[in-house]
Amino acid sequence: MYSDCKEGLKMKIVAILLVFLSYRVCDAAPADNDGKTIDEIIMESAVSHEMFDLIHDMGDGEMMVMVELDILLTLKELAKYGNKRSRVRRKATSSDRQLWENCNVYYEIEDADFSDADRVVIAEALAEWQNYTCLKFRRSSTEPSRIRVRNGGGCYSRLGRTGGIQDLALAPNCRRKGIVVHEFGHAIGWFHEQARPDRDDFVTINFDQIPVNWRSQFGKVAQALVNDRGVEYDYDSIMHYSGNTFGPGTIVTRNPEDQSRLGQRFGLSFRDIKLANLMYNCAGTMGCEKKTCPGEGFQGKDCKCYCPGPVRTSPVVPCGNTTRPTTPTTPTTTSATSTTEGVPPGPDCMDVRSGCAELKANGLCKNDTARMSVFCRKTCDLCSTTPSGSCMDYDEGCPLFAANGYCERDGLGVFFRDECPLSCKVCTPVDECAAFLGQSSSPGHMSSFLATVVMVTVAIWGFR
Ligand SMILES: [Zn+2]
Repeated sequence: MYSDCKEGLKMKIVAILLVFLSYRVCDAAPADNDGKTIDEIIMESAVSHEMFDLIHDMGDGEMMVMVELDILLTLKELAKYGNKRSRVRRKATSSDRQLWENCNVYYEIEDADFSDADRVVIAEALAEWQNYTCLKFRRSSTEPSRIRVRNGGGCYSRLGRTGGIQDLALAPNCRRKGIVVHEFGHAIGWFHEQARPDRDDFVTINFDQIPVNWRSQFGKVAQALVNDRGVEYDYDSIMHYSGNTFGPGTIVTRNPEDQSRLGQRFGLSFRDIKLANLMYNCAGTMGCEKKTCPGEGFQGKDCKCYCPGPVRTSPVVPCGNTTRPTTPTTPTTTSATSTTEGVPPGPDCMDVRSGCAELKANGLCKNDTARMSVFCRKTCDLCSTTPSGSCMDYDEGCPLFAANGYCERDGLGVFFRDECPLSCKVCTPVDECAAFLGQSSSPGHMSSFLATVVMVTVAIWGFR
């Protein structure tokens, strides 16, 4: 490509047009400009439907829960962050124990899982973090606390530093700079922007558009457990999902003009950078004499003040060189009643992830109707089903969880009642067979039910 560029320069002497064409070739960006939002990519990256199982048995007896598509939490963490009693307004984890000590983030890459091109993408993402913050990403295969970047059935991360080896999974489709920046955002301690406790002042979540077992995914993080350091809500955050997560019109900005800002995956926004700097005390760590910066500005690791720059090209600029107005910070309240304009009245008949044809070919439309009626409604011809209205469990382990009191357990209850409405007895099944079986009545279940009836009948007759 570089030699092509040189050729183009030579041709400049001959014909300006050809130089222009040559320049265009040299300037071509990597094929990562498909216009898809960050949640679309994450959703599509699941190589199998198992990715969307919300409850995961990690094999060593530990149960983990996937929340908001890409944050893997232990049940203990879920109980902690799912507790909605507290009412503070923050974004980033407040627990210092979850921050990386001395700004050193240790990581290793499972080399066998990634190509050279993949490693370049990962390096670009880490370079962005390192450029704008005081975080230092250090490769290590011996540090007790380290991130293990590996292939996986999707893109996901743990939250903050867990204190052990923690996986950060990047399926092939996730190996794009913005996605990697996003996943490392979780690993340094960030939730999603739309989970902020103050999000309702800025966006409306249309729960009617979201399948019932995914509604707990749109919860707000408990206030006392996070700390936004005073950085205001950010539509441009790399941590914000788009307005069409799980279906059209699920997240609607108060001001319609802001809608297109959601779900970007270009890179860190001004407020992302500011929050990371404050969270890890970058100026203080670098021995800067504290000073107050104008407007939204913050003191960077070089002790200078930085203000918002042009969105998506240069998110921060030295204060005084500001080339764009600061992002509106005050939510408009007058548009609250119009936020559902343009939103269809019910779940659209559409697939919300890619690969539905393959899943259908593998028989999942029939064998896993509950999940497919959420993700592949159109391909599976399940548009007439009403998944959000059915009284059924969405996980095989639901009867066990319910028997162990998870439905009422502090912090966990909200999640399990959404995931296991039948076992948690938050709904009443219309079909008595379904009630008896603890599941929706699929042919397989029905045959086992009939087999049970036959066996009982035979046993009774045997005693006569
Ligand atoms: Zn995420």
